[in-house]
Amino acid sequence: MKHNFGAGPGILPHEVLKQASEAVIDFNGTGLSLLEISHRSKEFEAVLDEAVLLVKELFGVPEGYSVLFLQGGASTQFALAPYNLLPSTGKAAYLETGVWANKALKEAKFFGEVEIVASSKESNFTYIPKDYTIPADAAYFHITSNNTIYGTQLQEFPKSPIPLVCDMSSDIFSRKVNVADFGLIYAGAQKNMGPAGVTLVIVKDEILGKVDRKIPAMFNYQVQIEGGSMYNTPPCFAIYVSMLTLRWLKAKGGVEVIEQENITKARVLYDEIERNPLFKPVCATEDRSHMNVTFVMENAELEKPFLKLCDERGIVGIKGHRSVGGFRASIYNALPITSVYALIDVMQEFAESNK
Ligand SMILES: *Cc1c(COP(=O)(O)O)cnc(C)c1O
Repeated sequence: MKHNFGAGPGILPHEVLKQASEAVIDFNGTGLSLLEISHRSKEFEAVLDEAVLLVKELFGVPEGYSVLFLQGGASTQFALAPYNLLPSTGKAAYLETGVWANKALKEAKFFGEVEIVASSKESNFTYIPKDYTIPADAAYFHITSNNTIYGTQLQEFPKSPIPLVCDMSSDIFSRKVNVADFGLIYAGAQKNMGPAGVTLVIVKDEILGKVDRKIPAMFNYQVQIEGGSMYNTPPCFAIYVSMLTLRWLKAKGGVEVIEQENITKARVLYDEIERNPLFKPVCATEDRSHMNVTFVMENAELEKPFLKLCDERGIVGIKGHRSVGGFRASIYNALPITSVYALIDVMQEFAESNK
């Protein structure tokens, strides 16, 4: 077995993969594959209902919010959020903490005015700006909870006088969140909750219906809510595998339990990066991500041989994003702590042989 530190699509629990593969041949003893049954069948409706219920239960989604499973990835939500929430004469506020945040605000410019309240671009996004004021006259304030590429994470969410819109693609279900503090949460499934092909959207019903533009059905949250995520054929298999992953999380004890595991995994890895003379962290200590751990080498010439040793030891997916360089170990929910220890062993072995 490999130790999968890939940033996304990321690791899924082995038992989920096994159950999913069985459902491809024979879904729940129906004699049919999950891939060939109607999305309107009672069997699939039960899958979608359970997935919605698990999201509500695991994340503590209060009354007055709708849970949707849509297509197009988080990148489509970059456009749908302003499409549905930003009046053409209004403005939206954005916190620029990385490339994904930047792509999100670029899409918003198609729909109205955009105010960047703060940015850490000048330092290649190695920290989260904290000293800013959220304009009370904006339609919403958009943040990215975890910056997958740079390895920063909002450890505290801002108190916002306007609806908070959050891209949680790379840390959804990794920690407890007070959903009532948000107007809209969205996440591509493929980092921490399922396979590629489905996007989770949690939206507060009362923030909808406030723009005057006409919105095509597929892009309209209200239409998707009325259709119960089935205005058209939903991504059945991706929803099923996400549901299995949420079941797995529930059986583990839920978000509170995984949060503690994630904190421990991150701590032991950052400790080794700090302690090991060959490596150093990239980001500001207080903003370090518990999901994507970025680090570089004091001597860049050793990067290739280190990657080679990782490969030999079954450590995969740790090459850093091209815009940061070095390494990025993504330690999502499904990655066991034994894999983190395996990486630490390789870092120590490499340091021993490169004194
Ligand atoms: C991966 C990622 C995205 C892009 O997701 P897609 O589903 O590929 O569109 C957006 N935001 C964040 C924070 C991500 O990590």
